Amino acid sequence: MRIVMLGGPGAGKGTHAEYMSERLGVPHVASGDILREEVASGTDLGKKAKSYMERGLLVPDDLVEEIIARRLSRPDAEGGFILDGFPRTLEQARWLDGFLRGNGWGLEVVVNLVVPDWKIIRRLAYRRICRNCGAIYNLITMPPKREGVCDKCGGELYQRDDDREEVVRERLRVYRRQTAPLVAYYRRRGLLVNVFDLGEEDVRSEEVLEAAISKAEGRSEARGEG
Ligand code: AMP
Repeated sequence: MRIVMLGGPGAGKGTHAEYMSERLGVPHVASGDILREEVASGTDLGKKAKSYMERGLLVPDDLVEEIIARRLSRPDAEGGFILDGFPRTLEQARWLDGFLRGNGWGLEVVVNLVVPDWKIIRRLAYRRICRNCGAIYNLITMPPKREGVCDKCGGELYQRDDDREEVVRERLRVYRRQTAPLVAYYRRRGLLVNVFDLGEEDVRSEEVLEAAISKAEGRSEARGEG
């Protein structure tokens, strides 16, 4: 399965992608995580990316394309992957099409998570992440058993700098301007499945996985492979 997760900041891409990656046995490739690693290790690319990330702006396409090309060229991505946070611009989407075609690959499905702003702001303001294993918590809806400590590995929980409210609002503006057009791009290609996460209760990752699988099956039947 080759899947793209679309949706605004805090839409739940990372949480659902992680679950799907375990269930499907394909790597979860998160452009934001890779960029944060580059920043933390102080690489040239990380130094260039840092100032954009701090302001909630998109890192230039060529830098992100470089890290994605590198990551998808590793052997574990041969059997599929779940892309989270990439592509985020039409240029990146076109680049990805070319990159996949060059490997004889294509996307099976694009999952679009539709989440209202009030939920996004609540989620991000209370989001905490494990410094060690990357597990994601929410102080309201999914608190850790011990404050500040990861249930899974005992690592320290922290808040991302760009989860502060003013930066979140900028990220929402950037999403609407630069990333939202990808919804129409993938819909036209017949790849899109919407998952609506509109209520008080969050959509479960199993439901997202089921939506992705039934879309992919529907597409392969339509092509006469089913
Ligand atoms: P994320 O963890 O996906 O929310 O990404 C965090 C930040 O990394 C974003 O606000 C951007 O500054 C940068 N970033 C991640 N993915 C991309 C991308 N595909 N294109 C440009 N910038 C990105």
